[in-house]
Amino acid sequence: MHGFGSSHSLSDFVDLLFPPQCLSCRAALYEQSQLLCSSCRLELPLLNAKEAEYEIRTKLAEFPQLCHSFSFMKFQKEGVSQTLLHALKYQGNIRAGQLAGLWFAQALQENLAEYDALCPVPLHPSKLRKRGYNQSYHICLGMQRASGLPVQSFLKRIRKTETQTKKNKSERFRQMENTFQLSDAASLAGQQILLVDDVLTTGATRLACLKLLDKAGARVGLATLALA
Ligand SMILES: [Zn+2]
Repeated sequence: MHGFGSSHSLSDFVDLLFPPQCLSCRAALYEQSQLLCSSCRLELPLLNAKEAEYEIRTKLAEFPQLCHSFSFMKFQKEGVSQTLLHALKYQGNIRAGQLAGLWFAQALQENLAEYDALCPVPLHPSKLRKRGYNQSYHICLGMQRASGLPVQSFLKRIRKTETQTKKNKSERFRQMENTFQLSDAASLAGQQILLVDDVLTTGATRLACLKLLDKAGARVGLATLALA
């Protein structure tokens, strides 16, 4: 008989050969820990809700109609937060995004109750092909597991973004305006949508997405896994 019992014993066998390790300190993980050991998980620079809200609203002052702004942790160079985001963005570790998304949604709990859907910030198709996955989508999947909210890709990215270092803030925002489009099937009137992304830096990309969703008649909030 080759039921799921056999695949279970195969995964036990693989665990025996390659015991799961903490992503950050490489210590062996015990059964109840996933991705990070308990001490590395405690080192995550978690943000309190008020602090996150204030910082995001300051960055997105041009979009005062934002319903909520949530962020899970501070992005710190050389820390566990950087290891986690680096694994998710550059090392193909989509599980890192899914688990972090799960922890994020567990922390938010009833704050998500009034939302209708989670919407990832899209990648340009050429970047999606190169990376093979959209990291924001995987954060959404983790958040879905804790909240039960559907993940819906209401947006698509139609332009690649040039390097923005030489542009000032208003030039960056203007350039972003034509970067995204609503996906063909988007029906958003009266919906409350949570836009989900990995790291919030200047906010230019998110602002363009939020404005599009808003124009289509949705109420929108923003959840970013980390805040730079
Ligand atoms: Zn560790």
